[in-house]
Amino acid sequence: MTRRRAAQGRGAAEGRGVMASNDSEPDLFAAAREPPPRALTRLSPLVRRLVAPNASPFTFNGTCTYIVGEGAVAVVDPGPEDDSHLSALLAAVKGEKVETILITHTHRDHSPGAKRLRAATGARVVGAAPFVAIGDGTAGLDSAHDRDYSPDAVLADGERLKGAGYSIEAVATPGHCSNHLCFALVEETALFSGDHVMACSTSVVAPPDGSMRAYMASLEKLRGRTEAIYWPGHGGPVVEPQRYLRALIHHRRQREASILAALSDGSQTIPALVAKVYAGIDPALTRAAGLSTLAHLEDLGGRGLAVAEPQDGGQTRYRLER
Ligand SMILES: [Zn+2]
Repeated sequence: MTRRRAAQGRGAAEGRGVMASNDSEPDLFAAAREPPPRALTRLSPLVRRLVAPNASPFTFNGTCTYIVGEGAVAVVDPGPEDDSHLSALLAAVKGEKVETILITHTHRDHSPGAKRLRAATGARVVGAAPFVAIGDGTAGLDSAHDRDYSPDAVLADGERLKGAGYSIEAVATPGHCSNHLCFALVEETALFSGDHVMACSTSVVAPPDGSMRAYMASLEKLRGRTEAIYWPGHGGPVVEPQRYLRALIHHRRQREASILAALSDGSQTIPALVAKVYAGIDPALTRAAGLSTLAHLEDLGGRGLAVAEPQDGGQTRYRLER
């Protein structure tokens, strides 16, 4: 089986097919890269899913909204503000009470739907902290955050929330963005993994709000946990999460090694590095690849392996630390 390996950025998808690093292995995650059905789908005794109609290169076939519990329920990531999605969601929980709206992070494809769902149901909005920009809020993907988000409560790492027949534990997983949380569903040893771990693509990590160092630490954090299935923010489930986490970590280390190898030829700008490291990339995706490369360079800089050299009136060059 031949498959293009990694580096097939799709916007939010920094690279698809990370499990294809060994072509002799069956691709256990192929099914997860099929777009999940949009309609209400029963996934487990405690979990139902609806997919929002916001397909794009950044969102796969749309944001996955999950309904947790029966009768008195929680909704994970109501998605973008969209009339048809809100109607479908309200129809799905007809006769039930929405008590809690859980938000993994405040990118605009995840949290804005909370406002009207709260107004319609009286539910409390809890989860990620509101976004705080480091600079002017326009660099990287910072402008993708929902600035109108106003939670009733922010959940800290490890904090638990008890519902009717289910319990949720917040797991702080910064990296894709600084305020990202995953939610463990204790009774089903499942994890709502948001945009931190998706089977359909790898996560975009774009500075300044995104951090490769934090992202790698958050992957390692999940390696120390026992959840057996992940329900991500886009696409189908991650069915062998520990194996998949190892593949993700390997994929990023390979990318880092490619960047270091390119820098061994002398100092480079980010576009020059992208041309070398992501050879053959779709030109529409070079910006996403550049942001990802910047995230790696920041991380390498923090570890004393690479140095940024700002140029007067030109693009910053990067070189290996001597
Ligand atoms: Zn996101």
